[in-house]
Amino acid sequence: MPTYSELANHQVLSQPVYEAGRPIEVVAREFGLDPSFVIKLASNENPLGPSPLGLAAAKKALDSAHLYPDGSSTFLREKLAKIWSMQPNQFVIGNGSNEVMILLAQAFLRPGSEVIFGSQAFVVYKLATLMQGATPVEVPMPNFCHDLKAMRAAVTDKTRILFLASPNNPTGGTDNPQEIVDLAKSLPDHVIFCLDEAYTEYLDSSADLRELIKAGRKIVVTRTFSKAYGLAGLRVGYLMGSSEVCGILNRVRQPFNVNLPALAAAEAALDDQEFLNKSKRVNAAGITQLSEGLKSLGFKYIDGKANFLAAQIPNAEEAFVKLQKVGVIVRPLKGYGMTGWLRLTIGTEAQNARLLDELKKL
Ligand SMILES: *Cc1c(COP(=O)(O)O)cnc(C)c1O
Repeated sequence: MPTYSELANHQVLSQPVYEAGRPIEVVAREFGLDPSFVIKLASNENPLGPSPLGLAAAKKALDSAHLYPDGSSTFLREKLAKIWSMQPNQFVIGNGSNEVMILLAQAFLRPGSEVIFGSQAFVVYKLATLMQGATPVEVPMPNFCHDLKAMRAAVTDKTRILFLASPNNPTGGTDNPQEIVDLAKSLPDHVIFCLDEAYTEYLDSSADLRELIKAGRKIVVTRTFSKAYGLAGLRVGYLMGSSEVCGILNRVRQPFNVNLPALAAAEAALDDQEFLNKSKRVNAAGITQLSEGLKSLGFKYIDGKANFLAAQIPNAEEAFVKLQKVGVIVRPLKGYGMTGWLRLTIGTEAQNARLLDELKKL
């Protein structure tokens, strides 16, 4: 009798397991702690909570929970179109930006296709690639920085997607906006350039690829409401590109992929400039606080402007467990080939101080 594993598509079995940040309640139970004592600095969530405008809209939307959400995300796409000076049919809304990347893979990859990304890149690129039976081409990152020239040089006739996150997760480094534009311009027409801007709200400047998209270059840009807008638990993100690519992705997408409160929250959060500014302010102060603290402890870290820092901590894998015992959850980066490193999400001032204090005790 065959086992389930023998019956499964072999791409499924080739999937690395996505190791998410450990939830507060799970850690609290495991170590016998009060959940309110535990702080989570493990998934780059917003320490200020959800956007207040977004939260209010989500609560209100729950009154209509008996209705299906708008399967076309009409109002959110219209609003995004206005903000970006694009057309509503140039947006695809996803259950997190994670989903739009999966849609891209499902629509464009098949066995034999190659997908280029950095050796320390967001793991979803690899998951999406392997699931389609396509081939990941992981370009080494010297000093944990993208080597854009090497990424360009890795392009072959089989390349279909090149993923680049700036700032990159889990390393935190940011690529120069002009160099991103130059890379986008240099790619041949059979390669889709996917610029993942999950943390771009925290930057002062970023690459603007809209003119290239309008000129017909094969470029898509993804954004999320999970980080600076504080809506990770609702799962909304989007992709911006040509109307043609969006039409194709919409064929792959489930009809009601984004739920009702999530859509309402995302729409309202776009107006929450006050919350966004505060998030940026608190994050910038937190980067200073955490980096100075790490420096004074003698720990190496990668300079970054996103809402986390990757730091080299003595006995990192052991420290990850010890920190949980005292109610601090961070993320080990061993799975990314960064043994000895932890990814520390920027928290509130008090949370950062507590993390530094516990690191000092270790
Ligand atoms: C967090 C993150 C995302 C966004 O994920 P969602 O599915 O939108 O929550 C995308 N890319 C990178 C690099 C990230 O770190």
